[in-house]
Amino acid sequence: MSSAIHVTAAAWNTIRQEVAAGPSRLETGGILLGHDYGDILQVTVAGDPGPNSQRSRDTFLRDRDHAARLAAVAWEADRARWIGDWHTHPNTPPVPSPIDLASYARHLRDPDLDFDHFLSVIIGLDDQRQALVAGWIVTRDAVHPVPVRLGDPQ
Ligand SMILES: [Zn+2]
Repeated sequence: MSSAIHVTAAAWNTIRQEVAAGPSRLETGGILLGHDYGDILQVTVAGDPGPNSQRSRDTFLRDRDHAARLAAVAWEADRARWIGDWHTHPNTPPVPSPIDLASYARHLRDPDLDFDHFLSVIIGLDDQRQALVAGWIVTRDAVHPVPVRLGDPQ
């Protein structure tokens, strides 16, 4: 089980730009692509939501075709794989909602996806739009909080 999540500056910039651009009461998000080094999960690409994503105050449904294209490009670039999702919540603390957990459980049960854990990065925005970032590693039977660090593994 990974003990830390490292998010590259490039991936973090994508998230920051999406959070800054998004309407304040709607969720936004995208896929996370990167590498699983065992004790460290490295996120090298954070996807933007894509043109066909659906957003509301408490749900975010990503644009699957857009996500698939991002994943294909990242795989060609450095064999990065789909390791999880990021999305915003209009409140804090940034913990997975029941809807989120049901969605992650579907991914973990899907034999085509072959996940044994799924990374969830949630950015909770408080009333002043200050962001609180939390990382979660979700397995079939547990949800573990994991620290999120900006930068490459040492
Ligand atoms: Zn959520």
